[in-house]
Amino acid sequence: MRTIATYQNQSVLVLGLGKSGVNATKLLLQLGAKVTVNDGQDQEDTPAVAELRALGATVITGSHPVALFEEGFHYLFKNPGIRYDNPMVAEAIKREIPVLTEPELAYEVSEADWVSVTGSNGKTTTTALIALMLNYQRAQGHAYAAGNIGIPLSEVAQKATAKDTMVTELSSFQLMGTTTVKPKVAVLTNIYEAHLDYHGTRENYVQAKMRIVQNQTASDYFVVNWDLPELRTLSQQTKAQVVPFSRLGTSEEGAYVKDGQLCFKGEVIMPVTDINVPGDHNVENALAALAAAKLMGQSNEAIIEVLTTFTGVKHRMQFVKEFAGRRFYNDSKATNMEATEVALKSFKQPIVLIAGGLDRGFTFEPLTDLLKAHVKAIILYGETKQLLAQTAKEAGIETIEIVDQLTEAVPAAYAASQEGDVILLSPACASWDQFKTFEERGDVYIDAVEQITE
Ligand code: ADP
Repeated sequence: MRTIATYQNQSVLVLGLGKSGVNATKLLLQLGAKVTVNDGQDQEDTPAVAELRALGATVITGSHPVALFEEGFHYLFKNPGIRYDNPMVAEAIKREIPVLTEPELAYEVSEADWVSVTGSNGKTTTTALIALMLNYQRAQGHAYAAGNIGIPLSEVAQKATAKDTMVTELSSFQLMGTTTVKPKVAVLTNIYEAHLDYHGTRENYVQAKMRIVQNQTASDYFVVNWDLPELRTLSQQTKAQVVPFSRLGTSEEGAYVKDGQLCFKGEVIMPVTDINVPGDHNVENALAALAAAKLMGQSNEAIIEVLTTFTGVKHRMQFVKEFAGRRFYNDSKATNMEATEVALKSFKQPIVLIAGGLDRGFTFEPLTDLLKAHVKAIILYGETKQLLAQTAKEAGIETIEIVDQLTEAVPAAYAASQEGDVILLSPACASWDQFKTFEERGDVYIDAVEQITE
């Protein structure tokens, strides 16, 4: 870890007691800062609060007392999810106090090179692929996957040495609060939806993502999806060397598909059909990842080994197992219709789909055509089961079954399947009507699959 004097004896406000806030607080204390932590929710009885107080932080929970600013904070580190109209953040902006996020702190103390991934979709998958590739037969050090992928950056940054690589997944919310982050390789997978509720305008969202290149120089690389015209224009903003990736053959300058092969700068690496995870979107993730791995000096052997064996990130089109000629997939992360659309398009085999969950008050009509094209039977549960059944009926699906629980849906799906089918959990809904998180929902599914396939 690089020891920096920036925060020595400085007053720092940390906003939000999530994993990243707790880790940032600990690191700031270690760097000699005087830290006040604030969370709007009452968290008085939690172990995290007790731990931070024992380490010397002042912790205030249950409200956002703007009067705290009278103490004269020098910096504010906020949880990325907290919006800029939060009263504490607004006050900091008014007083011209820098509003930062945890990746900024992690970058400042990190000795390792950063490979950073952002985009609307495919961040976690691409980050995981790059880390696996960079770790394959690595002679020295380790590639750490961290950030939005679930492992706090500031924790990993402390242990990473100059021999290591930090493969960091960065969301637009995190990037908004960075000023010095300078990845050796920055990857922009795509830009689709805009989080307008948070960013206000699409322009703000795009510019937040582009902060990933803000400090890059000519010795760095910007790996970018060339099949999206908007991104070609945006790439003019970087001083780094632009390395396009293209599934559709719009460029052959970086990573691309040609004659059914994954290629990099004129070199054939492997057939597209050998990628172990299904779907065009995963071809794009594979291209982005292989470009980053090549730029970091990794071998084709490492790339081939990873792409031919990778079973997906947990809960994201994760291949669970094959049993009696059926392939089971867990796509519990599909908490909206768009994600389920991507999942359905990924398979050529007939699908027995398990779906349903929290009712957000919209209909599933946009799914009709894809259901018709890909789904032979559908098993529904959760708040939206009747709504989804209506859409399935309109799609002409013959086998529509309604059950109460996901645990019942799995044997019902098996009964409706035959050899050669895919059995897919891709709920198209959030999980909160019956589960705490989509991870819990995915684990329940995997357990249920294990039970019927033992
Ligand atoms: P993120 O971390 O950006 O949310 P993930 O890698 O976790 O992305 O993938 C989440 C879901 O997004 C996947 O299950 C799939 O439905 C969809 N997806 C993944 N990669 C892409 C891509 N490159 N383009 C479009 N959709 C994608």
